[in-house]
Amino acid sequence: MGSNEMVAVVPEIKHTKLFINGEFVDAASGKTFETRDPRTGDVLAHVAEADKADVDLAVGAAREAFEHGKWPRMSGYERGRAMHKLADLMEQHTEELAALDGADAGKLLLLGKIIDIPAAVHMLRYYAGAADKIHGESLRVSGKYQGYTLKEPIGVVGIIIPWNFPSLMFFLKISPALAAGCTVVVKPAEQTPLSALYYAHLAKLAGIPGGVINVVPGFGPTAGAAIASHMDVDSVAFTGSGEVGRLIMEASARSNLKTVSLELGGKSPLIIFDDADVDMAVELSRLAIFFNKGEVCVAGSRVYVQEGIYDEFVKKAVVAAQNWKVGDPFDVATNMGPQVDKVQFERVLRYIEHGKSEGATLLTGGKPFGDKGYYIEPTIFADVKEDMKIAQDEIFGPVMSLMKFKTVDEAIEKANCTKYGLAAGIITKNLDIANRVSRSVRAGTVWVNCYFAFDPEAPFGGYKMSGFGRDQGMMAIDKYMQVKSVITAVPDSPWY
Ligand code: NAD
Repeated sequence: MGSNEMVAVVPEIKHTKLFINGEFVDAASGKTFETRDPRTGDVLAHVAEADKADVDLAVGAAREAFEHGKWPRMSGYERGRAMHKLADLMEQHTEELAALDGADAGKLLLLGKIIDIPAAVHMLRYYAGAADKIHGESLRVSGKYQGYTLKEPIGVVGIIIPWNFPSLMFFLKISPALAAGCTVVVKPAEQTPLSALYYAHLAKLAGIPGGVINVVPGFGPTAGAAIASHMDVDSVAFTGSGEVGRLIMEASARSNLKTVSLELGGKSPLIIFDDADVDMAVELSRLAIFFNKGEVCVAGSRVYVQEGIYDEFVKKAVVAAQNWKVGDPFDVATNMGPQVDKVQFERVLRYIEHGKSEGATLLTGGKPFGDKGYYIEPTIFADVKEDMKIAQDEIFGPVMSLMKFKTVDEAIEKANCTKYGLAAGIITKNLDIANRVSRSVRAGTVWVNCYFAFDPEAPFGGYKMSGFGRDQGMMAIDKYMQVKSVITAVPDSPWY
């Protein structure tokens, strides 16, 4: 493991106000909140704090831009061009954007530059290319009629996102909505508002009209709840915890029955069969749980290893975890930075205590790392039972739960023994096993002999209590569209 000595200065923070109707403005209340650097716990910036009054203004601006503005009326090609322009600007500012997420969320600067920001750009460009490929169908209608469907943008979209991938989450949600011709009000997570505000600034430079993208940093029960219950928001796209997902559905039910899509995390199994290359399996399992300090909704947090290779796997997995360098996320030698904030840091440590008290065997880690900031050692528990809290709850931290299995059936049963169904991984050279398990695991994404292989083309979302609706892929655009059937009488049809 490394050290948590700070090696980089805090990036310059240029945008801390709300972005409404194309302008940076103070909150109506004049209030601000602190966003902190998880490397030290120090205040990074004071950010304008939106509440209901500001959400009303933002939704009003988005409504005006939707009802009367250019954006929904432009051709898809023109919308796509503006989106590509924004993507160009993001590429020109990759370093700065990665540094903002690095300081705000404790994410690795290097990976920000080569993964997070390029992936956000890829997402935006995918949907920029899709914007002029949205079309309805012609319908075979009985009788003297003809019919077709029109796809129309759904309207004003409220977007509420978490802190673990601030840039990617922002573009995962806004890109298909923009391609569809919608206008958006985005509430970034209170822990990580900085890059979203920077994107608002770049969107303005790219020529995206005022009111199309509004960004209202603030807290969930105030700003978030105001979006979810707003009578003039047509749809809400949410990623975060199950508890808040429920609140959002309730708010929709109590207000205007807006459509809702929820991505609610998981407890994803990684199943390693006897025929696997053990070194490769160890490497993938380490990545699956320790990448981004385990703050990943699809983290491979339950690792099932077949009995024939179990002992060898365990020995190697412990060494691999101990070699995973914890330290300053701005240091290129670091593999894992601090948890996003004190709340998550303490939450993960509480789960580790649960693991110990429930009788799981702590093989390595289990403690804070260093004496400042929110760093936690890569942690592995063995002898975990399916009914333990650490096998059931989404810990959202660097904690692997290891379990042994004998047969393929047993692996499938155990993998499905969770309320979640977001993702799963399978490591085997046996095609029949890979195919059978892929079809048997109830999860929205299955990775075979890989993990975290994401692409904007591949629909992403959950089964069971991991939520519903899909991000990514062409089908994500449908979340942001209405379908209208138009039937026309054809009195003189020669075919009837
Ligand atoms: P959260 O669900 O509380 O927050 C996610 C977003 O929802 C934030 O923007 C937050 O401000 C907002 N929010 C909170 N309360 C709200 C309300 N009443 N109405 C509307 N919006 C509201 O998640 P969290 O506290 O940041 O993390 C808690 C747990 O959630 C994590 O430990 C993890 O298990 C899970 N989580 C999952 C994901 C994921 O990608 N699926 C991401 C982050 C967190």
